Amino acid sequence: MDEVDRGLPVVVVGAGPAGLAAAAHLLGRGLTPLVLEAGPVAGAAVREWHHVRLFSRWGELVDEAAAKLLAPTGWRTPGPDRYPTGQEWAQLYLQPLADALGDRVRYGARVVGVARRGWDRVVDAARGTEPLTVRVETAAGEERITAQAVIDASGTWGLPNPLGGDGLPALGERAAADRIRYRVPDLSDPAERARYAGKQVAVVGSGHSALTALVAFAELAEEASGTQVVWLLRRGEIGDTFGGGDADQLPARGALGKRAAEAVSAGHIRTVTGFRTAAVEHDGAGRLVLESFDGARLDPVDEVVVLTGFRPDLSFLSEVRLDLDPVLQAPRALAPLIDPNVHSCGTVYPHGARELAQPEPDVYLVGMKSYGRAPTFLSLTGYEQVRSVVAAIAGDREAAERVELVLPETGVCSGGGLVDEVDGQTSTDEAGTEVSGGGCCGPAAPAELTLIAPVGARR
Ligand SMILES: Cc1cc2nc3c(=O)[nH]c(=O)nc-3n(C[C@H](O)[C@H](O)[C@H](O)COP(=O)(O)OP(=O)(O)OC[C@H]3O[C@@H](n4cnc5c(N)ncnc54)[C@H](O)[C@@H]3O)c2cc1C
Repeated sequence: MDEVDRGLPVVVVGAGPAGLAAAAHLLGRGLTPLVLEAGPVAGAAVREWHHVRLFSRWGELVDEAAAKLLAPTGWRTPGPDRYPTGQEWAQLYLQPLADALGDRVRYGARVVGVARRGWDRVVDAARGTEPLTVRVETAAGEERITAQAVIDASGTWGLPNPLGGDGLPALGERAAADRIRYRVPDLSDPAERARYAGKQVAVVGSGHSALTALVAFAELAEEASGTQVVWLLRRGEIGDTFGGGDADQLPARGALGKRAAEAVSAGHIRTVTGFRTAAVEHDGAGRLVLESFDGARLDPVDEVVVLTGFRPDLSFLSEVRLDLDPVLQAPRALAPLIDPNVHSCGTVYPHGARELAQPEPDVYLVGMKSYGRAPTFLSLTGYEQVRSVVAAIAGDREAAERVELVLPETGVCSGGGLVDEVDGQTSTDEAGTEVSGGGCCGPAAPAELTLIAPVGARR
């Protein structure tokens, strides 16, 4: 039987931290990467949260193969113990890395489809012999690129979860779009500041982005009189929302939770728990009224900031065969490793090609996208994923299966901000994931994994 032409490029979707690291690994193994990035620059998603300071240090944000590729340019990890902002991560690392990759990175190239060349997903024949094709939209029009493998590192930033507690946009949510934001506002920007200063603001969500926003709004409330913030949690109680504090193995992540807790107790923020938004209505006086599925109605607000997580865009993968977990929309073999029901310490066991392989040969989901709707993704995880995936594509099974990473724990033993058990009832988390109460306060699990799927890809 003929083989897919191994001289073809490996297409990487997205020039974010995971995609660019994948390209560096591919190059390091003598393969030809082609990174297709929808945005005009490297790290287009990261740049959209440019003002947020990361809770990972520089030393945890640089991929090894990427550093090797950058070294001849004189590049060095900037202050390994410092915490960059999103802007610094993009400008000082992602862009130089993309520049080092040269014309192997194409900007303004949005991937809108992946398929087996000439065959839809129903046909068995030729799946092991025909290459993949990647449909791309650029300013110049449509294009089809032939590839030996596709690494989808397109993240989830483009699809924030809606305000609606059932995962669908709340009734009236779309009509109120001019008053609803789905990103952490940059309150150092005068225009953004003016939008919220002296206003009644509802912040919805309980993850790290929501905590970041609460800290920023509490500072604004100190300075701009009349600013009032109501914090809406879908979960029944605050519980461990503020994270593990000093027990968090990422100190800056623990500190964020502590600052948010202080902001709430300082009195500028009113907390409402157990509120699942069903509808958004205009009150007739220019404000919005949120109504819950229980029929509770909040006092009118001027602005709503929805920070309830993200979901993957699977639309352009409709013609390839995927095996995804029905709850998290993550690769099925990965889901148990990141499911808060199972790993409630926020710990994620190292994993790679074996867990990420799909029924469609040579197609992998990596980076933030590989987590589907699960939270607490760290770029360190993505770097280990792409090391392993690229080894599998290169046919190096030993390296593909090796686990080379220990990930920091959140220090929270009842979920990485997820578990929502009200009166003993199983409920759903801020990302709409159904979870039950639980805890795993035991020691970190050994690095060995029960490997579920074979390392796919090579025939
Ligand atoms: C506010 C915030 C703070 C965070 N802080 C940390 C932290 O401290 N430490 C940490 O490790 N992680 C942190 N994260 C998680 C962080 O997002 C990831 O570590 C990292 O950005 C994920 O990288 P990625 O490459 O998987 O996805 P992304 O960074 O989202 O990159 C995906 C890229 O794909 C492009 N793209 C999307 N769709 C297409 C398409 N169809 N065709 C072509 N290109 C496409 C996008 O434009 C983007 O450039 C944070 C996330 C947020 C939102």
